[in-house]
Amino acid sequence: MSAVDAARPLAGRRAVVTGGGAGIGFACARLLAERGAEVVLLGRASVEAGAESLRAEGHAVGTVRCDLSDPDETRRVADELAAGERVDILVNNAGIIHREPAVDHSREGWRRVLDVNLDAVWTLTQALGRGMVERGDGRIVTIASLLSFQGGINVVSYAASKHAVVGMTKTLANEWSAAGVTVNCVAPGYIATDNTAALRADGKRGREIRERIPAGRWGEPSDIAGAVAFLAGPDAAYVNGHVLVVDGGWLAR
Ligand code: NAP
Repeated sequence: MSAVDAARPLAGRRAVVTGGGAGIGFACARLLAERGAEVVLLGRASVEAGAESLRAEGHAVGTVRCDLSDPDETRRVADELAAGERVDILVNNAGIIHREPAVDHSREGWRRVLDVNLDAVWTLTQALGRGMVERGDGRIVTIASLLSFQGGINVVSYAASKHAVVGMTKTLANEWSAAGVTVNCVAPGYIATDNTAALRADGKRGREIRERIPAGRWGEPSDIAGAVAFLAGPDAAYVNGHVLVVDGGWLAR
């Protein structure tokens, strides 16, 4: 990267954010755009509303429709993106959770979680990472979880997928760092999004979680966006294969 504008360190960079229409992904897309990146939101119908909001704020935003639970569609979209305009930054954010005890955990639930949280991440990362390696420049940030470190209960497919993206990230860091491509994860703690609405609505459980967080509050999507923008930007050029935990201190407890 050449001279960096401190206010807009991502100017001239093109970023793809999966699931960028809502929650953490939307906050990431907005901050990357504020820092100068041209952003493409990749996902289902919700990306259109997200893009409209960002355009209303004056940002250059595109959309690509893709259901990441469909492996064939994901492969096609990944190949089209790889053959199209340069992508400098990939944020693998889209993710789902399936809650069901392990003894009954359905094959369908397992498959869907692994398709969205792992297989689609790999398909996009390989397709877009190849071009980054060839150009000698690129940033890949995948949203992991506290369940990249812990097991949780009733979420075996989710924990498996979130452990797996960390392993993938470390291998790719080993293979791609010398080519100027950094590959890292951000592991959010408990963040107030649709994903956690039911937990927060459960007064007792929601309060127990908050009281266990050293920071004394649930995280906001913007807390995660700051870490993602750091890893996607010039200040993180020498950060490779790292999992940046952003959890208000939860894991330290
Ligand atoms: P969210 O509000 O439910 O957002 C999930 C995003 O993923 C949405 O934009 C959604 O788009 C997209 N998505 C889901 N299924 C998709 C599919 N089949 N194809 C394309 N896009 C799909 O959840 P969030 O909390 O922001 O989660 C974002 C990431 O953070 C996930 O990887 C999650 O595992 C991780 N995370 C969240 C927390 C937390 O406390 N919130 C903690 C740890 C990790 P649609 O609305 O169009 O489906």
